Amino acid sequence: MKVFFDEIDVLTESRTELVDISSYVEDHVRKSNIKNGFCLAYALHSTVAIIVNEHETGLIQDIINKVEKDFPKGMGWLHDRIDDNADAHLASTFIGPSRIFPIKNGRLVKGKWQNIFVLELDGPRTRKIVLETLGE
Ligand code: ZN
Repeated sequence: MKVFFDEIDVLTESRTELVDISSYVEDHVRKSNIKNGFCLAYALHSTVAIIVNEHETGLIQDIINKVEKDFPKGMGWLHDRIDDNADAHLASTFIGPSRIFPIKNGRLVKGKWQNIFVLELDGPRTRKIVLETLGE
């Protein structure tokens, strides 16, 4: 089995934002020369999530609106006593900091309308995202 590891920096510009990293993940898989296996995309942060969905402007705003509605800022969260971002930690906890994808014939397998996004929850910042492909 081969293992191929990358770490990419993703710059975000807003507090809550989606950044499409599909092309980075696809490039990573190509560079790995791994034909069949799995690729992990994993954020090294507690206030970021990785999600998969359609890259459409209205839907992107819908996702941001839904996250802000479900995890509202300043609701008396206890973590806000030491750090003003409990809402971002909670969203990351329940949405999740990683996704995994199948690799078949050297390509990332995903649906036509599936793109891979970093979901920034406490930006703007520079975010480190690990991409790791395992297989043969
Ligand atoms: Zn915090």
